[in-house]
Order: sequence, then structure tokens, then C-alpha cells
Amino acid sequence: MKKYDVIVIGGGPAGIFAAGFAAQQGASVLLLEKNRRCGAKLLITGKGRCNVTNSEEDPRRFSEVFGRNGKALLTALYAFGVPDTVSFFEQRGLPLKIERGGRVFPEKGKASDVQKVLDHFIKESGVELLTACTVRKLRTEEGCMSSVETSVGEFSADQFIIATGGLSYPETGCTGDGYRWAEQTAHSLFSPEPALIPVLLAEDWTRELSDFNLKNVHITVQQAGKSITDRFGEAFFTHGGIGGPIILDMSAEIRDALKRGAVELILDLKPAVAVELFDKRLQRELATYSNKAFRKSLANLLPKDMIPLFIRLSEIDPDKKCHSITKAERTKLLLQFKKMELRVSGVEGFKKAIVTSGGVSLKDIDMRTMRSKKVSNLYFAGEMLDLDGPTGGYNLQVCWSTGYLAGMSAAAR
Ligand SMILES: Cc1cc2nc3c(=O)[nH]c(=O)nc-3n(C[C@H](O)[C@H](O)[C@H](O)COP(=O)(O)OP(=O)(O)OC[C@H]3O[C@@H](n4cnc5c(N)ncnc54)[C@H](O)[C@@H]3O)c2cc1C
Repeated sequence: MKKYDVIVIGGGPAGIFAAGFAAQQGASVLLLEKNRRCGAKLLITGKGRCNVTNSEEDPRRFSEVFGRNGKALLTALYAFGVPDTVSFFEQRGLPLKIERGGRVFPEKGKASDVQKVLDHFIKESGVELLTACTVRKLRTEEGCMSSVETSVGEFSADQFIIATGGLSYPETGCTGDGYRWAEQTAHSLFSPEPALIPVLLAEDWTRELSDFNLKNVHITVQQAGKSITDRFGEAFFTHGGIGGPIILDMSAEIRDALKRGAVELILDLKPAVAVELFDKRLQRELATYSNKAFRKSLANLLPKDMIPLFIRLSEIDPDKKCHSITKAERTKLLLQFKKMELRVSGVEGFKKAIVTSGGVSLKDIDMRTMRSKKVSNLYFAGEMLDLDGPTGGYNLQVCWSTGYLAGMSAAAR
């Protein structure tokens, strides 16, 4: 059996970085990936555009969005932070641009270009890559990792890095194998839960507007008439409900609130204008179309695709002349724009979760090196750690930073 310096399990962003940087230090590295190609999940990130990182360069401020575990990420961020990620891609011919909320994307908006850079990085670093190879079992001897048993044979190494991701979007290869191995080797696990999840609604019309972007809207999450949380930004209706950045970022609170009772979302499509002012605008608009049918009057207020649904929901006869619309009818219409009530019927599960919250407890990892405190030649990186952030490029940066640190540390031993 050929023996390597380092074996990395999992060819996602974290595993690729760990393998590439370990190899650049002169280690012989074998990267094992169960899919035919590395980075399957990467291709669907950011709706195919890949939000590679966030422009927040200050490690302290960056780490704050990760809540209780954020501080543990600091060493990795100082070792390989946002500016390093940006130079990594730009120096390899992939210019990046910053969008709203500090989201950093490839200038041409193609996740496949990110995957190409990573493929090239594996090659240029001299990593030996074995795809279509599923790791089935870890072998340990006297409390140390000795080899891995795979679908194509057994491989041995001095150091091992596990970067098999979480449980979200299982069709991309993430089936929680790493979690099982972590538990088998005496690491504690914070129960993995789906996070950044789309929300399901009782309203049956959402599919009519699915994938239609709601830009600059305000959504309040409400329970028993009380506001729980709210966000301003982008969302979109889906086949069964509503998704998009602001929904995903509130989804954990929505999920928890549902355990206590019914939850509603209040959608404000015109957050820049107060209710009274918008009512005046509505009156002006209806006066302009005075003698014309109601169905023609919304063109200046709504995107074309939304108008038929809005008319239906208003329950105003589409052919009714605008001048004969009653105050009660107008008030109902006004509320549709400013306070549309959406009844939450549930949240999606792992199948549609952007990330997994929970994972390998950071208490069992020396976060200065990513080395396990339980098994001395084992390292962890990426989403399988008990670290999850909001949308905006934060989660991939965790992969770049922890992957880099794990690779460099494993190669140094
Ligand atoms: C739809 C979607 C959109 C997203 N968009 C963004 C975004 O724009 N920005 C952002 O920051 N984050 C985004 N994320 C989150 C981000 O993709 C993940 O956090 C990131 O991919 C995790 O990287 P990883 O390397 O830890 O794991 P993964 O990318 O999940 O890679 C793990 C790899 O391990 C392999 N593997 C698993 N088990 C085995 C085994 N037994 N043997 C061999 N190989 C194995 C898998 O096949 C997989 O290739 C998105 C996620 C989803 C689902």
C-alpha cells in the first residue's frame, strides 16, 4: 500500500484548499472525492454565480456574524482571510466584483469559473486526485488514524484531513459521512440541523411568481401580532413558498418560532414610502386611469408579471372603472402593497438547506491548527465544523480559511 504524507477526504472548497496548500508545502497529498468531479456543490452556489466571500476584511467583524463560535474562527481568518481569498482568485485570472451587502462574486458571474480555478490549483500544486472514490471506513491504530478504506482500495498516510461537508443538498455528495466518523473517533457533535432554508407558505399562488425577484422589499416575521425579526433586501417566491437572502437569514428564527405556534410574514413591497403616502400615490394612480378598467391601472406600480395575481388577490373586478373603486377596496389594495400577510406553513429540510448548522464541536479541535484533540493525526475543515454564518459569502470563506489552515498544519508535521 502506497503511503502519503497527507490524505484529504472530500473535494469541496475546504478539501481542495487543504490538499492544495499541503502539497505546496512539499507534502505528498492524496485527495479523495466520491463524485466524478470536485466541487459539485460549488457549481450551484449563489444561484450559479458563486458568492466566493464577503468584502468585510476585518477578521473580528467578520467572525461576529458566526455568533457563539465566531471567535474560534479568528486564527484561521488571520492565517487566510478575505484579502487572501480575493488575491488567490484574482492572481489566477479570475477578477472579482463586490455587490450589495459586500457579496463578492466573479466578475463574469460564473461559478464554473471558480471551479476551473480550483481544478487548476489542484494540478499546479501536485495533488494526486482520485475521483469516483467513496471513503467507507477510517482505520485507527492505538488512537491514531492509520488508513482509509474506500470503494477502490485502501490508502494510508501520516496525516488525515476530513472535509466531507454537511448534510445539505445530499445530491451533491454530502451525506454526513464525516459526522459519523467524527463520532466514531470520540468527537462530540452538535446535532446537525438544516440552516438557511426557504420557508413554505400556505398561500397556493406562490408558484405563479416563482423565481421572480423581489428587490428592496421589507419582511417582518410575526407571531401572535408581535414582531420577532425583520429584514430589508432581496427575496423571491418559490413553488411552495418564499426564499432568497433575507428569508434564508431569518429562517432559523422562523423555524424556532414555528415550534411555539403560528407564524406570519408581513411583506412590504414599497418600504421606502410610508403607508399614508403610498395611499396618496394609489389615489393619484386610480385618478389618472379614472375612466379606464382597474386592470390597466397598476402598470406604474408593479412589474408586469405580478399584476394579474395582484388583481385577483384584491378581489376587485378587473373591468371595474377606476373612479368607482370604493375606499374599502382601495384600502385592501393598499395593504397588499404595504402589509401583505403570508402564512408560514413550515420550513424546508436538508434537501433545500444552504448549509448545515451544528457539526463537529470546536471544543474537540485545536482551532489554531484545525487538529483534533482526540486523534493526534486528524484534522477537520469546512462545513462539517460547528460553524455556520448568514448568506453573503461567509460560509465559503470558512472553507477557504479552515481548509488552508488544516492543509498547512498537516503538512508541517
Ligand atoms: C444551493 C446552495 C447555494 C450556496 N451558495 C453559497 C454562496 O453563494 N456563498 C457561500 O459562501 N456559501 C454558499 N453555500 C454554502 C457552501 O456551498 C458550503 O458551505 C460549502 O460548499 C461547504 O464546503 P465543504 O468543502 O465544507 O463541503 P462540500 O462543498 O459539501 O464538499 C464536500 C465534498 O466531500 C465529498 N464527500 C462526502 N462524503 C465523502 C466520502 N465518503 N468519500 C469521498 N468524498 C466524500 C462530497 O462529494 C463533496 O464533494 C451554498 C450552498 C448551497 C447548497
